Amino acid sequence: MRNILITGASRGIGAATARLFAEKGDNVYLNYRTEKQRAEQLAREIGGVAVYADVADSVQVAEMLKQLPGIDVLINNAGFAQFGFFDSLSDTDWHRMLDVTLSGAFYCSRGVLPHMIHQKSGAIVNVSSIWGITGAACEVAYSTAKAGLIGMTRALAKEVGPSGITVNCVAPGVIDTDMNATLDKETLTQLIEETPLGRLGTPEDIAKAIFYLAEQDSFITGQVLSPNGGIMI
Ligand code: NAD
Repeated sequence: MRNILITGASRGIGAATARLFAEKGDNVYLNYRTEKQRAEQLAREIGGVAVYADVADSVQVAEMLKQLPGIDVLINNAGFAQFGFFDSLSDTDWHRMLDVTLSGAFYCSRGVLPHMIHQKSGAIVNVSSIWGITGAACEVAYSTAKAGLIGMTRALAKEVGPSGITVNCVAPGVIDTDMNATLDKETLTQLIEETPLGRLGTPEDIAKAIFYLAEQDSFITGQVLSPNGGIMI
């Protein structure tokens, strides 16, 4: 049974991913920052364990990892949206985006790698975004951080490949989660119209892609898989 750590797993893509791995027989650790009750409820439902840490804080990440057994699959999923004009972005907003998205993935990956290297197997899946590939207006910090995750994926894949560890990335299109709850109906309708498959993605669509990339003994590494309904072909 593999030990899986999913960051930001209390809801949305992280929660669907936790359910899928648990259904497939893996042992799931669900990281949360703010939604303790929700994470603990889901953990009870799927036979997993909820674990606290703000992934942007290296001390908290180290404390969290100390409580866990060796992690075989890490999914760096924690993230948040941030909209606004570039010239009105504050230092705080900019740093928080990079801290959660990039430093969070760095702290968690660095923390789980010694075990993976020792056992000569493991998988890391980073959750980027189509905006990390194409860039999105009024989401420059988000796009920058998500592009950084793609860079981290490719470079780390090369570094740890000789230890039997894969590092891949999903870059989802528009997914129906709380993250998009602030988008108005008109914007959502337009996004659906621009999507050849004619619908928003579901958290389960992304969970399946993550599960595929986390398969043991896979020959796939350093790749970016973009489940996006064809919006970005
Ligand atoms: P969501 O808001 O439902 O989930 C994000 C989760 O991350 C939440 O549980 C939140 O509490 C957690 N989180 C945020 N900051 C954290 C921190 N510092 N430490 C620990 N946990 C933290 O949204 P979602 O759509 O499920 O997003 C999951 C991932 O998918 C994010 O990285 C997001 O950028 C990415 N993504 C989402 C979409 C989309 O359209 N929804 C598209 C592409 C990529």
